Amino acid sequence: MPATQPSAPASAPVPAPVPLTGWGRTAPSAAHVVRPRTHEEAVAALRVCAERGGIARGLGRAYGDAAQNAGGAVLDMTGLDRVHVIDADAGTVVCDAGVSLHRLMEVLLPLGWFVPVTPGTRYVTVGGAIGADIHGKNHHVSGSFARHVRSLELLTADGTVRTVEPGTPLFDATAGGMGLTGVILSATLRLHPVETSLMAVDTERAADLDDLMARLTATDHRYRYSVAWIDLLARGAATGRAVLTRGDHAPLDALPARARTAPLAFRPRQLPAAPRFVPEGLLGRRSVGLFNELWYRKAPRARHGQLQKLSAFFHPLDGVPHWNRVYGPGGFIQYQFVVGYGAEEALRRIVHRISAHRCPSFLAVLKRFGDAGPGWLSFPMPGWTLALDIPANLPGLAALLDELDTEVATAGGRIYLAKDSRLRPDTLAAMYPRLPDFRTLRQSLDPTSLFRSDLSRRLTL
Ligand SMILES: Cc1cc2nc3c(=O)[nH]c(=O)nc-3n(C[C@H](O)[C@H](O)[C@H](O)COP(=O)(O)OP(=O)(O)OC[C@H]3O[C@@H](n4cnc5c(N)ncnc54)[C@H](O)[C@@H]3O)c2cc1C
Repeated sequence: MPATQPSAPASAPVPAPVPLTGWGRTAPSAAHVVRPRTHEEAVAALRVCAERGGIARGLGRAYGDAAQNAGGAVLDMTGLDRVHVIDADAGTVVCDAGVSLHRLMEVLLPLGWFVPVTPGTRYVTVGGAIGADIHGKNHHVSGSFARHVRSLELLTADGTVRTVEPGTPLFDATAGGMGLTGVILSATLRLHPVETSLMAVDTERAADLDDLMARLTATDHRYRYSVAWIDLLARGAATGRAVLTRGDHAPLDALPARARTAPLAFRPRQLPAAPRFVPEGLLGRRSVGLFNELWYRKAPRARHGQLQKLSAFFHPLDGVPHWNRVYGPGGFIQYQFVVGYGAEEALRRIVHRISAHRCPSFLAVLKRFGDAGPGWLSFPMPGWTLALDIPANLPGLAALLDELDTEVATAGGRIYLAKDSRLRPDTLAAMYPRLPDFRTLRQSLDPTSLFRSDLSRRLTL
């Protein structure tokens, strides 16, 4: 773990606090936001953290309070945004932690490389991707983001910059460590080769939850990417009905002649921003139920090899800027959990409970995870993960989710911290068995808790 100590420039005045939220727009708090543009400025920013604690923030796509620090400092890392080295033969990139996956796609796709893991939005930073050890539709094949990190530069509480490599405790604490081991300044990533920027996609419908699980279990291994949209408002025999979309990067010879002139073009479509005000009830049970019905019916019963743009397959919501406003000022909760293989009964019970509660969720997805990574607080483990959006002001929601937390913990599963804004500390401890190791390492690395966040205080991380 080589360490260097960059000299810090003279500190600037502490900026006035600004309100921050996560993507779900719940749990707002105000912090002094500092935006370093160099490693030296990041070191200097630690002086602001020294008084009030600090936490790194990327593009704020975590849904809850992970990148907030009430009354303290927040280091906006998007100013560290340089791509340093691309090795187009070996398929690696060295870049600053504030570079977004969108930017990486812009520079890498024309060279025939793709990011190894992408979440449902490409507007996340490399630092945020490592901090939450994000997963994508390819988790069952490729694992989570940290598996593809060769090394990273970490600014720790003592002001040193350490090169951190996989196979070390500091790496395992940082991958999924929610920014609490320090500030990631840059990283070296391994990439995935592609011949085109299109996806070849198979779509099929599943009539209910058991049908869905059977299809995913039987055939997921044939696909690099797999996910199922699930209708959580359907009831009775249709409970858990779903549309599966699975596929892989299209090879060059799958493209029609006209598309072969620019097979690696990356031109995502951008629609107008979502309105600030959305009429009350648009996301109520009736309208979401109608939407879900149409979505299910319009999906083909079975379609093979449809060519889709990368952006349509991976990031359909990125086309609508600020789509998170549609839930109104109350915001929304994204609830995501995983339960292991063998705990299918618990999954069934949870789906039935959500369905019985009539949660108006039109963004619900089920997927199978593959092997877990080494991150101590990393979320993915082999099993079933369900993620759903729910308006935060839904009556009875807090009690329902507390009960679901207990069900998940009892089944040996866990909640995803990057989506969370409401979990209780005692439940967390039952979900993450390496939490004591994480706390011990953090205590020795950062005894004064220089790095802290609203999430770390709430969950006593
Ligand atoms: C529409 C949508 C779809 C999503 N789909 C998925 C998905 O499919 N799979 C998935 O895993 N996640 C998904 N997410 C969640 C998202 O990928 C993660 O929350 C990711 O961490 C956000 O990155 P960010 O750059 O916005 O970081 P932020 O939200 O700003 O921060 C997230 C965490 O990373 C830490 N962090 C950020 N930068 C650094 C840094 N430089 N050094 C140290 N720590 C840092 C922060 O302290 C914080 O704890 C989705 C989010 C949205 C909005």
